Amino acid sequence: MNSDVFLIQIDIYDQQRLCDAVEHIFQSLGLPRELAGGNVLVKPNMLVGASPENAVCTHPEVVRALIRNLPECCVKVGDSPGVGTTKMAALQTGILDVCRQEGAKLADFGDPVVTTLQSGAMCHSLPIASAVIEADFVISAAKLKTHALMRYTGAVKNLYGCVPGRIKAQMHLRMEKTEAFAGMLVDLYASISPVLSVVDGIVAMEGNGPRSGTPRQVGVLIAGRDGVAVDAVACSVVGIDPFSVLTTRLAHERGIGCGDLKEIRIIGTALQDVRVSGFKTVSGSASTTKNLPPFWQKLLREQLTARPHINSKDCTGCAICSEVCPAGAIVVPDKADIKYESCIRCYCCQEMCPQGVITLKKKGLGRLFR
Ligand code: SF4
Ligand code: SF4
Repeated sequence: MNSDVFLIQIDIYDQQRLCDAVEHIFQSLGLPRELAGGNVLVKPNMLVGASPENAVCTHPEVVRALIRNLPECCVKVGDSPGVGTTKMAALQTGILDVCRQEGAKLADFGDPVVTTLQSGAMCHSLPIASAVIEADFVISAAKLKTHALMRYTGAVKNLYGCVPGRIKAQMHLRMEKTEAFAGMLVDLYASISPVLSVVDGIVAMEGNGPRSGTPRQVGVLIAGRDGVAVDAVACSVVGIDPFSVLTTRLAHERGIGCGDLKEIRIIGTALQDVRVSGFKTVSGSASTTKNLPPFWQKLLREQLTARPHINSKDCTGCAICSEVCPAGAIVVPDKADIKYESCIRCYCCQEMCPQGVITLKKKGLGRLFR
């Protein structure tokens, strides 16, 4: 496994600079020859149809730079958004325009194929978009963001968008424990095995991510063959301990990638030159409980795991939270109301609320743990 990571300082989404940076990465890794003539799927983060300034989705200029550097390939671009269609999300993010201008096709992600996960330690099969299965090579083009359930989302978590539509939310019922869910994400990453992982950290998202956080200028593009190493470097740039991210820790322990910064060779800018301070994170679960016996974990869960909390004053009653809630725990007679006795703490509602009025609140003992 080549765990070299390219860390490139870029402060704006300048077309030429991005294309040059991606060309340098491709050439250094020998990708032009390896990918020539192949069907390549570029998988950006298109969580929802949000404009680039909101920093919810991979910036369209990053997608353009990738497509331009694949001249001898048949390139498709796709993702399955949390709500709505791929086409609508691509239109609103600006990625559809880029595809049209650069001659790439938009892949239909509404067509699941139940697929055996070759590296499935936690999950043996999953419905995956046919465009992913049919591609010869996948490039993960993620956005650097905070994530309520996983703490951070980047290269590895990005591939969860390969699971079409509402099946994503339903998987939380099958994988209710955060550790199990993270294990499934690692299985999926290992099975898809992207040829390259890119994280757009030029403008990242801090705070109440992955949808309703605040854009934060970080000024880096991070890339490499090992998405686990790419995530470790991305986390380190924003001051998150890489091993506090379950996907990184589990993937490292299973030998799927390298999450240990001491073992990763960083090419380009030195980490200390691009580290940002005061990056605001969000975390629903207390990772400090992971070493406790299951009995205590269960007993303390109510205390230590944050609840989603709705700021009713600003709730529009759109009911998107209710639609995505896999546990049927939200009713919206007028304003949304959570039935906590049914809530499994998956935070899909917080992730998809278009008004950003759902935040996480810990009570009692939970406030003492991160
Ligand atoms: S998604 Fe947000 S705004 Fe819409 S009903 Fe739920 S809490 Fe209210
Ligand atoms: S209320 Fe929110 S956190 Fe609770 S189960 Fe539903 S979507 Fe998940």
